[in-house]
This record gives sequence, C-alpha cells and structure tokens, in this order.
Amino acid sequence: MQTEAGSSKVSNPDGGSGGGTMATAARDSHLRFVGRVYRLRMLGLGLGSLPVASVLYQQGASWWLWALLMFSGFAWPHLAYGLARRSLHPIHVEYASLTADAAMGGAWIALMGFNLLPSALLVSMMAMDRISAGGWRLCLKTLAVQVACCLAVWWMTGFRFQPASSMLNVAACLPMLVIYPAWLSVVNHDLARRVRQQNRQLDQLTRTDPLTGLANRTHWLESARSEWLRFQRNRRPAALILLDIDGFKQINDRYGHAAGDQLLSDLARILQRGLRDVDTTGRLGGDEFGVVLPETDIERAAAVAERLRLLAANAHSEVGGEKLTWTLSLGVAAVAEDIQDIAAWMRQADLALYRAKSQGRNRVSVAPGRSGPAAAGGRGE
Ligand code: GH3
Ligand code: MG
Repeated sequence: MQTEAGSSKVSNPDGGSGGGTMATAARDSHLRFVGRVYRLRMLGLGLGSLPVASVLYQQGASWWLWALLMFSGFAWPHLAYGLARRSLHPIHVEYASLTADAAMGGAWIALMGFNLLPSALLVSMMAMDRISAGGWRLCLKTLAVQVACCLAVWWMTGFRFQPASSMLNVAACLPMLVIYPAWLSVVNHDLARRVRQQNRQLDQLTRTDPLTGLANRTHWLESARSEWLRFQRNRRPAALILLDIDGFKQINDRYGHAAGDQLLSDLARILQRGLRDVDTTGRLGGDEFGVVLPETDIERAAAVAERLRLLAANAHSEVGGEKLTWTLSLGVAAVAEDIQDIAAWMRQADLALYRAKSQGRNRVSVAPGRSGPAAAGGRGE
C-alpha cells in the first residue's frame, strides 16, 4: 500500500501533463490501493467493534451509541469505498477516509472512558493501518486528528474515566489481536513480493534491446568488461565478435523499415541458435551486433564467426511473400596483454569489422594480435 500511496504524489490523476494513458494507469493504481484499504477497513473495523461493544454492554449504553457502533463498524467501510470509487480523485478521498477512521477511533476511546485494553488495541491497530497505507507522515497527521477528536468527545461526555478492563473486554479483544496483524502482514508481504517482481521486470527491460530481445549495448559492454577483467586476473581467454549486416540501408529502402526490423529479429534468432548459452549476444545499435565469447581463443572465435556468417548467408527472411537473402561482415578480436581496456578491445574488433567491409563484405576478419594470427578470413563459399 505504501508504494501506491507514494506514487500518488508524482502522478497526476487528471492526466493534465502526462496524457490519458498515464492518467488511467494512475487511477487504476489508486483504485487498487482503495480496494486494499477497503478490505483491511472491513476486517479492522468489524473486529474492532467487538471490544467497543463489550464496553458499551458493560456501560448499558443507549441505543444511539449502538447504532453509531453498527454504522462505524459495518456500514462505514462500504460507504468510504463507494465514495472513493466514484470520486475523480480516489486517493484524496481515501486519505480523507483514513483521517475519518482516526477521528472515529479517538471518539470511541473517549466514549469507552479510556478502557485500557480496547483503547490501546484501537490506537495500535489504527496506527499500523495508517503506517502501512501512508507511512509515518500519514500516521502522525491523523494522530493529531485522533487526539483532538478524543478530547472533544471526552469533554462532551463529562470526562468519564474508567480504565479497568474486565475479562469480557480482554476476550473481546482477542479476535482482533490474533487475526488483524496476521492479515496485515499477509497484505504487506504480497505487496513487497509484487514490488520485487516489478523491479526484476524493470531491470530486465533496462538490459534488453526491445526489438530483438538481446542484451542492449550497456548490458553487453558490462559482459565484455567482466571477461576483460577475468583475463586481467587469471589470464582466461576470451574473444569479441562484432558483426554488421551488409547493405542494410538498401534493404530498408527497398522493402521498408518493417522488413528491416524483421531481418534484425531473424538475425537475433540465428545468433541465439548458433551460440552457446555462456556467450552474450547484444545489439549494439542499428544493424550492428556483438558477441562476447568466454573461454575462447582467437582460432575458435574465428571459427564461430565463420559459422555465423554461413548461417546468415544460408538463411533468408520472408518479406511480403518474397524470399530475401542477406549477408554479414564480422570482425573478431581476442583479449590480449597489450589491450589496456575494454575500449581498446572494442577498437580492435571494430577495425577487423571495418577491414571485412572494405575487403568486399560477407567475410570474417580477425584482428592481428599476440594471441592470434594476423589473419583475414575469406568467404566461406
Ligand atoms: P554496410 O554494408 O556498410 O554496413 O552498409 P549498410 O547499408 O548496412 O550501412 P549501415 O550499417 O551504416 O546502415 C545501418 C542502417 O540501419 C541505417 C539505419 O537506417 C538502419 N537502422 C538503424 N536502426 C534500425 C532499426 O531499428 N530498424 C531498421 N529497420 N533499420 C534501422
Ligand atoms: Mg550494415
């Protein structure tokens, strides 16, 4: 509840600046919050009526106090829920209702003549409720209302003070003592689990290229960097492949951007199928992709690149019923002692890719280095 209540401060239920979709999403989130408070209020006020009823019974209270108890314990939760749901600003109405809860709680404490156990129970359960809904700020703000209302009613009822709790009062407190905190914990645990799940989804989104589902540039570079660090620590081999579709602009121009997108997705599938699980494939931007190959020396990396080149050359994309063939150019660079940082490693692979392009495309080029031959792979066909 805390999260959604907090979100109300940044979102605009009118959609004044965020547009219709944002306003709808904010309202939905506020209504979920209202629904959760409704269930808690029904349970809390329903169970809270029992200790109050036990005190009223001992006092031989008049019918109007019983009627008031029936209203606040059983009718008010539905009324508050209906008011919030119908309002243009459900969250504002809900906070007003939470304040009204606190005021009623204060009034009941005075009407019970400060009967110790039921009063303490009402104060603590309502505080739990409001802290859970809006944090300490809401709790303190409504506490002031609760105290003011309590004092006013106490004054109106002639400052009656009967703090002793009977066995009946104790027994009437038990259902609330047992059930309500457990229920509140379940609700809060459920909310925390959903927040964790959403954080995971958000994390996944920030690491993924939306079109292909591969790692995005940032995530891919992190993976390349961790391989470079591993080489620094214990000299484990690793290689990078940078690859780029040949003549992609023309494909876009001729068949349209959607066809180009489809080709990018096809390539992502080919790369995923053609590589190991430990390899990290990412889209670095436009039609350029990268592969991080852990535990792979330059010869094996060149062989992997050649396999990918052949897979792409032999694949085709279906565009508007037409079979479209396309090719890749690939640059390979292994990590080595003279590679000072990840940028230098990328530069090596990029130069190799550039060489593959300038030598006629549809080929693999290997960066010269101490750990591998200064070689340029030719066409595999
Ligand atoms: P080269 O063989 O030298 O690589 O030639 P090219 O035509 O492929 O040139 P380049 O790699 O520079 O072209 C990249 C093109 O990719 C330019 C841009 O219009 C296009 N592009 C970039 N992002 C996207 C995208 O998300 N979808 C589509 N369909 N095209 C994109
Ligand atoms: Mg290209």
